[in-house]
Amino acid sequence: MIWVGDVPLGRDAPVAVIAGPCSVESFEQFRETAIAVSKAGASLLRGGAFKPRSSPYSFQGLGLSGLKIMRRVADELGLGVVTEAMGVEDVELVAEFTDMVQIGARNMENAPLLEAAARCDRPVLLKRGITATIEEVMVAVETVQALGDGRVVVCERGSRTFEPSLRNSVDISAVAELRLRCNLPVVLDPSHGTGRTDLVRAVALAGVAAGADGLMVEVHPNPPMALSDGFQSLAPADFRDLMTSVQGMAAAVDRPC
Ligand code: PEP
Ligand code: MN
Repeated sequence: MIWVGDVPLGRDAPVAVIAGPCSVESFEQFRETAIAVSKAGASLLRGGAFKPRSSPYSFQGLGLSGLKIMRRVADELGLGVVTEAMGVEDVELVAEFTDMVQIGARNMENAPLLEAAARCDRPVLLKRGITATIEEVMVAVETVQALGDGRVVVCERGSRTFEPSLRNSVDISAVAELRLRCNLPVVLDPSHGTGRTDLVRAVALAGVAAGADGLMVEVHPNPPMALSDGFQSLAPADFRDLMTSVQGMAAAVDRPC
C-alpha cells in the first residue's frame, strides 16, 4: 500500500479516483473542477502545469503558477494532488508543491528524469510509455525503485497501435499482468487511453473489473473550451455518473470504493 497524502493506494485499499483537468488553465477553472470532482467522490486531484504537447504552438501549461494554484486548491479542499514533471530541473519544484510526481508516457525511458524522481521525497506515478512493452515498464519501475524509497504507482494509459479511430488502445490485460508482476498499485487512465469522452466510462469500468487500484480521469467544467484534451475530458455531470458506476463495479468485484 502506498500513501499519497492521506489517501491509501493499493490492493487492500478502496479504488482511488484521481481526477482533474488535463491542464491547469486558471485558478477559477482548477478550483471549479476540483470542487466538482471532490463532491463526486474523487480522492486525489490531478492537473498539468508542465505539459508535454505534440505541437510547440499548443498551450504549454502555466508552470510554477500552475503548481501554486494546485497546492492552494488542494489545501483548501484537504486533498492530495499529482502533476507531471517533464524535466530533471522540474522535479524538486513539483515535489515541493504536490503529493506525487508523475512521469509522463513520453518520458518513461528518460533515465535521468526517473533517477531525479526516485530521489525526491514523494511517491512516483509512472505512466506506461506510448509503445512500451510490459517488460520495459518493469525496467522503468525498477530504475525508480533502485534509487528511491520504493513508492511507485504504475499507470496503464494506452499504447499507440494501428487503430486510427482511437488516440491509443488500452491494454486491459496489462492492468492484470502488472498487478501479478509487481506488488505495486496499478492505475488506469481511460482518458488518454481512448482519447474520447464517449469511451471513458466503458474503459474505466473494464479497468476496475480487471483489478485496477485506481483510475486517472480528465474532467473539465466546459470540455469544448478546454485548452488541452477537451475531446477526452468529462464534464462534471458525466464524472458524477462515472463515480456511481465505478462504485457499482467495485462492489461487483468485491472491492471497497
Ligand atoms: C497527462 O496525464 O497529463 C498526460 C500527458 O498523460 P500521458 O503522459 O499518459 O500522455
Ligand atoms: Mn491530457
